[in-house]
Amino acid sequence: MTPRLSMQSAYETFLNAACARLGYSASMKSLLSLAALEIKVEIPIVRDNGELAIFSGYRVQHQGARGPCKGGLRYHPNVDMEEVRELASLMTMKTALVNIPLGGGKGGIDCDPHKLSVRELETLTRKFIKRIHREIGPNSDIMAPDVGTDARVMGWIHSEYSAIYGHSPAAVTGKPLALGGSVGREKATGHGIGIAIREYATRYGKPLKGATVAIEGFGNVGLHAAQALCELGMKIIAVSDSRSAVYREDGVDLDALIKRKKERGLLCEANDLDALKPAQLLELDCDYLLPAALGNVITAENAPRVAARIIVEGANGPVTSDADRTLKERGVVIVPDILANAGGVIVSYFEWVQNLQREVWPPEKVDSELARILGKAAHDVFDHADATGLDLRSAAFDIAVSRVKEALDATGF
Ligand code: GLU
Repeated sequence: MTPRLSMQSAYETFLNAACARLGYSASMKSLLSLAALEIKVEIPIVRDNGELAIFSGYRVQHQGARGPCKGGLRYHPNVDMEEVRELASLMTMKTALVNIPLGGGKGGIDCDPHKLSVRELETLTRKFIKRIHREIGPNSDIMAPDVGTDARVMGWIHSEYSAIYGHSPAAVTGKPLALGGSVGREKATGHGIGIAIREYATRYGKPLKGATVAIEGFGNVGLHAAQALCELGMKIIAVSDSRSAVYREDGVDLDALIKRKKERGLLCEANDLDALKPAQLLELDCDYLLPAALGNVITAENAPRVAARIIVEGANGPVTSDADRTLKERGVVIVPDILANAGGVIVSYFEWVQNLQREVWPPEKVDSELARILGKAAHDVFDHADATGLDLRSAAFDIAVSRVKEALDATGF
């Protein structure tokens, strides 16, 4: 089970601190905190065994002043309104920080996709879209993959939405290539993590080639990040999924792990000598720790034992606000989620642009534009942090929050 700790207070804490530094009024702070629209629907489906099951579906549109709301759709048993609301707020800050013309949204269904058949998943997805299609679309709210969803789910959303409105590829991103998906979207978040680490290490003279990394989570983000970091010459000493973890001081065999995970759904066997408990991975001595799965995994309880020098937030909200304070006091650097994992939404933006313009970009263009946009955002954060003495998360929040406020002011009230 994911700990349901202080994700809300984490976002609120970071937002409140930014608003205080920027001298914003209490009402502006509320406006930046509250969601513009929150939807909850009940979705009944008939399971393959003939029984009725009811799931709850959520979509939150947090902020649309800078552009249509943008953000993923999460399938996980712990999804609820509180979590979706927080994740939607983070998307507003992420799109603002990387300065793409989009707002923030998020959705989810409280299901365990590993326990549903493909037919059940498709039915659930299509019924969800039937219920909420009036509120989403290329100019209002654009979904994408998140934890527990993938290109196939986005394909069903595209199909269901297009059945009502006509061919509308720009209504959802992260689609299969055959339906107008963008080349490079699947690996984009992991690839972006590589760019963020490279820019950070180069700017501050931190180790890169041969630097040790522990990666928590081996889904889309963790796997593609591992590949990107290997290409940078970094040494991946540990990898985990929700059930197990592998540790090798001289570096794991990534290709073998990917093969085993794909073929058998497992990272390690019960009798593997190099196995360790997933929670132990977070406390390994390493240069970089990459939490790349769910939120709230680094808490007040384990933060004092985190031995990594630098934490790079591949997941959304992996560090609670208490842990953030403890780590800061201990001198651990955190490259925040709204920067580190923004590669996904940046390439989603490229997909949306390609769909609207009926264009298909070559991979080189996707890669170079991603490096340009993410690189610029990273240096904006580093410049601001250096000029003010703020930590990277606070610097990132100040930039993002002030961009959203500028748009809100410009729209008039
Ligand atoms: N779910 C991803 C995120 O949290 C991607 C969102 C998107 O592409 O819209 O950033």
